[in-house]
Amino acid sequence: MSLRFTYECLPSRIVFRTGALDELAIETARLGSRALVISTPGQRRLAERCVELLGQKAAAVYDKAKMHTPGVAVREACADAQQLQVDCCVAIGGGSTIGLAKAIAFHQKLPILAVPTTYSGSEVTSIWGYTENGIKHVAKDAHVQPRTVIYDPLLTLGLPPGVSGPSGVNAIAHCVEALYSESANPLVSLMAEEGIRALGRSLPKVVNEPRDVEARSDALYGAWLGGCVLGAVGMALHHKLCHVLGGAFNLPHAETHTIVLPHAVAYNAAAAPEAMRRIAGALGVDDAARGLFDLNLSLGAWVALKDIGMPESGIDQAVELATKNPYYNPAPIRADAIRELLVNAWEGKRP
Ligand code: NAD
Repeated sequence: MSLRFTYECLPSRIVFRTGALDELAIETARLGSRALVISTPGQRRLAERCVELLGQKAAAVYDKAKMHTPGVAVREACADAQQLQVDCCVAIGGGSTIGLAKAIAFHQKLPILAVPTTYSGSEVTSIWGYTENGIKHVAKDAHVQPRTVIYDPLLTLGLPPGVSGPSGVNAIAHCVEALYSESANPLVSLMAEEGIRALGRSLPKVVNEPRDVEARSDALYGAWLGGCVLGAVGMALHHKLCHVLGGAFNLPHAETHTIVLPHAVAYNAAAAPEAMRRIAGALGVDDAARGLFDLNLSLGAWVALKDIGMPESGIDQAVELATKNPYYNPAPIRADAIRELLVNAWEGKRP
């Protein structure tokens, strides 16, 4: 079959090296002269280190970033940004912190410099969202894409193994679905395959030896690739299921991705053989779905939805939500098959 694709390359400046946080002041000066530094309460100290590095260019720290970006936090942070007359944001933390910076950027039209400390990949996408009255709204907007990203593996050394593993598998999930995306293209598929390879080899080391800088660097490299492909092409059934489960049962984001991924891959195996071949090859295993499940076990991650708070009685509701307005998916979406997938994921069965 001859090639056919449309690809829009997202612009961003990437500074990647061990110790790269040292360049924060120089890099921030490219975007503005008065920055609001954003973090979660738990990472306040890191945010204060940014203030020290920025000196006069730091206006204040806003340390109230939270999972799912509540609308009330967005309004409060926007009011602070206006009152302080900042002209850029520095977001240091995981997807939740970067998510709040994106919401501020959307309303205030401010450029973002992102310093990720997890493997979520949000720092290189134009996808943003917020939660209002229990409903998560997600959209794409070029204004929210961070202009500069500083990747410094040293900042991830303290990410606990129990957070690192699922966060890294969340990045693998972006790569996996990019390989069978409706809008897949050859360059993005290369990045996706390389992302799976980098994360597959580095995550077991990261979990066993969290302070191994080389393994952390490799995992962050894979996370960057995961974010790039997430921002570039559409996702499929796996992301739809995780969105549904996270929203309906308030399940933790990265853990839900980790548990569901092997089952979503098994669901799509027959319909996307070339993607399966590339996933398995990148992991160095015979079967993509089983290889992903075994990787989760080796990371000591949860493998059953029942263990992260999903009630068994919620399976039918999840089937209904997941089959309503489904995303594109290589295998047809059938309620009975989705139910079987969810039962297997709930029980933690090896695919
Ligand atoms: P998170 O940002 O919620 O971080 C999890 C916890 O780890 C937080 O308490 C945080 O303070 C802490 N933490 C972060 N880095 C640490 C470090 N280096 N050391 C110690 N503790 C650290 O989790 P996440 O998985 O990074 O992000 C999840 C959120 O990001 C979800 O809301 C998800 O929807 C969103 N997301 C968005 C995109 C996008 O493109 N917009 C992509 C992926 C995820």
